[in-house]
Amino acid sequence: MVIIMLGAPGAGKGTQAERICAGYSLPHISTGDIFRANIKGGTELGKEAKSYMDRGELVPDELTVRILKDRVSQDDCASGYVLDGFPRTIPQAEALEAMLKEQGVSADHAIDVEVPDENIVRRMGGRRSCQNCGAIYHVEYAKPAKEGICDKCGGTLVIRDDDKDETVRNRLKVYHEQTQPLIDFYKGRGILKEVDGTQDPDKVFEDIRAILG
Ligand code: ADP
Ligand code: ADP
Ligand code: ZN
Repeated sequence: MVIIMLGAPGAGKGTQAERICAGYSLPHISTGDIFRANIKGGTELGKEAKSYMDRGELVPDELTVRILKDRVSQDDCASGYVLDGFPRTIPQAEALEAMLKEQGVSADHAIDVEVPDENIVRRMGGRRSCQNCGAIYHVEYAKPAKEGICDKCGGTLVIRDDDKDETVRNRLKVYHEQTQPLIDFYKGRGILKEVDGTQDPDKVFEDIRAILG
């Protein structure tokens, strides 16, 4: 099963992707996490990606598609995966579609987690991420058991460089211009499913479970 998570930055794609992956035993493929791991590791890819990410811009399609294909060609992705943060542009969606077609399959669901812009800015200010495993927390809405420490691995929780207010606003602008058109793209493919992302995370997941069956 191939599941695509759509939604604005901060809508809760990653939070829900973690739950889907745990519940349905699928790998969680986050292009943002792959870029951040490369930044941390000081790779060339990381250096290039960082220059875009720090400005709240998208990393160029060619580079992003290349790393995505590389990741999903690994063995753990053989029976499906959850895409979190990819595709983000029409050319990326077309590249994904062509790749899946070559394998004789197509994406099963594109789940759009809907949250208005006003809520987003508030959410992003409180987001904390585990420096070690990437798990997602929020200072009010998804607190770890011990402040600043990851429940899952004991890693340190940090504020992402691109979660500053001005960068968040630019990311939202980029979302509306380049990523939102994917909603119509997947509507056209007949696989778009919409969920109300302003609800409590448990309720959002319940709605997603009802979609996935
Ligand atoms: P969010 O959790 O806010 O949706 P991500 O972790 O998915 O953010 O992405 C962080 C940043 O990484 C993006 O703002 C963008 O610069 C870059 N990025 C991630 N995925 C993509 C993609 N599919 N195409 C282009 N850039 C991407
Ligand atoms: P995305 O991957 O779409 O950028 P995240 O899953 O990282 O979004 O969520 C952004 C922030 O909002 C995180 O701090 C997360 O803990 C919090 N969050 C996620 N879902 C909800 C929700 N339904 N209600 C309140 N806060 C949420
Ligand atoms: Zn962790």
